[in-house]
Parts: sequence; C-alpha cells; structure tokens
Amino acid sequence: MEKDNSGSFFNYLPEGCRLCCTGSKMVLFVTGLCGRNCFYCPVSNERRGKDIIFANERLVEKDDDLIEEAVSMDALGTGITGGEPLLRLERVINYIKLLKNRFGSAHHIHLYTAHAPTKVVLESLRKAGLDEIRFHPPPDVWKNINHTYYRDSILAAHRTGLSTGIEIPSIASDFSGILSLLLEVDGFLNMNELEFSETNASELKKRGFVLVDDDSSAVLGSKEVAESITGNKLRFCSSGFKDAVQMRERFKRIAKKSARYFDEITDDGTLVYGVVRGKCLEILKEAGVMEDMYSVLDDSVETAAWIAEDLAIELKKTGCSVSIIERYPMKNGMIAEMTPL
Ligand code: SF4
Repeated sequence: MEKDNSGSFFNYLPEGCRLCCTGSKMVLFVTGLCGRNCFYCPVSNERRGKDIIFANERLVEKDDDLIEEAVSMDALGTGITGGEPLLRLERVINYIKLLKNRFGSAHHIHLYTAHAPTKVVLESLRKAGLDEIRFHPPPDVWKNINHTYYRDSILAAHRTGLSTGIEIPSIASDFSGILSLLLEVDGFLNMNELEFSETNASELKKRGFVLVDDDSSAVLGSKEVAESITGNKLRFCSSGFKDAVQMRERFKRIAKKSARYFDEITDDGTLVYGVVRGKCLEILKEAGVMEDMYSVLDDSVETAAWIAEDLAIELKKTGCSVSIIERYPMKNGMIAEMTPL
C-alpha cells in the first residue's frame, strides 16, 4: 500500500482529519479527568487527572480564551478531547454551542470519548451542533464489541445523524467485530500509531513494546498492524505525521495571522526577526529604515532579520547587541533559536 499525502496509507479521510491535516482544527482539551487508566495513555502529567481546559496550548479560564485561540489560528473546526470529555457533558455542550454560534455551522466539531453514551446524551450533543463522534473502546472489548454497550451507543450515534467512527491505537488484536459494526453504520476506523510518551513509557516497556528507532517515538510493529487490516473507510495516523505535519500547518496558520510586516515566516511556521538592544533608533532612521519595518519595545527594538544583519557592524560599534530570533508564532511563543550577530 502506498502512503497518500495526508500521512496515511489508506485513502479515507474523515472530515475531522481533513481539517487536522491542514492545521485548521483547534484541539480543545476539555478536562484531564478520566475514569480509565489505559496503559498507552499519552496525556501529560501536567494535565492528567486535573480538571483543566486547554485550547491548543492556551489555558482556558473563560470563554473568551477559547474564542481568542480559535481566531488566532483561523480555526475551521475543533476536536474535543481529554481526559474523558463526557465527564464534563455540560461544559462540552456549552463549548459546542459557543463555537457554532461564533463561527457558524460550518465550523466542524468532532468529539472523542471512551464512554458508550446513551441515546439521550448523544441526542443532546447532536442538538448542540456536534458533527462527528469517535469512540475509543478499551482494547479488552475490541474483539467482542458487538456484545457490549458500545454497539448500542455506536448504532444510536449513527441514528442521530452524527458521523460515527472508532479511533484506537494500532495494537494487534481481532478487529473483525469492529469492522462489521462499522459497516452497519457506514463508520470509519482511525488507527493511531502507538507511541512512546513520557507518561506511558514504563507501561509500554513492561509489555514488551520497543521503539522503531532512536529518532522516532513510534512503536515497532504498530504501523504493520494497521497495514494488515482491510476494509472501507480506514485511516492510519502516523506519529511522525502528527508531530511534523499537523503541528507545522497549524503554526503556519497562526503565523499568517500574527506576523508583523517585517517578520519572516519559515516553512515550519516559526517567525524570524532581528532584535537590537541599546540606543539604535537613530542608526535605523539614518539608514532609511521605514517605521513599519521596526517595532519599539520596552528594552529593545525588533526589526526584519535582514535589516539587523545589514546594520549589525554599525550597531555593535555603538555598543548595541544584535541577534536573530526564531520564535513560535503564538502570543508570547517560545524562542526556538537565538543567534547573536
Ligand atoms: S481514555 Fe484516553 S484519556 Fe482516559 S486513560 Fe485512556 S487514553 Fe488516557
């Protein structure tokens, strides 16, 4: 099988994934609480077990924080995750309504859950505006899923009009029950490449999982498990794709919105500019640098990287320090690299 350009060797792309691939989906982490304890859980120690909310990396303390983050990346949709989102059902419903009211019905919203919600819960989510639901049953029910509450819930989700799928880590198992159930609801199966993280490494090692190689966090053999499955509407999300493509595309969207006239946007979506500390304004003006090509801050002046480089010798002669900064594009984004000139 060949890889398509969305990082998967399957051709099917659920709507929630399509927006994710273009970096236009906001990740709404709605709570760190979760009643389960999956051995592969990748949720970080900072978030796990805490009833806290993040929109991408931004802490959400009020509704405006969520809206600001969505605007900053020009989000076309939102993926609601956790923890277990349905432990905070009212919060989820309020956020779905908030996002749909602010950005319109075309703002696509999908939700992950490890629960098997009732028809009443599913209908309330659908009524609020939810578009897609991704069930995450635990591995011990995969084989016999048709004899569990997940079957009832998945059928009910489909009946409410939700686009319905199952999203699970790619671990060897008997998937026949899952595949036949999905056929009944015209649903999709999204397999995530199993990955080592800071929080699951010891549990994965204990079970004999090993890394593909030292340059990757992917688990050896996980990709092959997904490759061995045949059926309709299958998707495989590789760990490299998540890190490299989704993140980069999202950064680029944020950068396009946040870049100043003189910032350079890199292929990774970071911003590059020059920083001059010291009395430099006269030198910049004398060199003919226009006002829209620099920004005066409390303790420095920021300008285009090429201007800082061109004037570096002259600026340093007067005691200024000059450097080139590469920074993540979000508000107060972390500095990725600083190069003194
Ligand atoms: S259901 Fe999700 S959040 Fe909860 S323990 Fe499992 S992987 Fe972690």
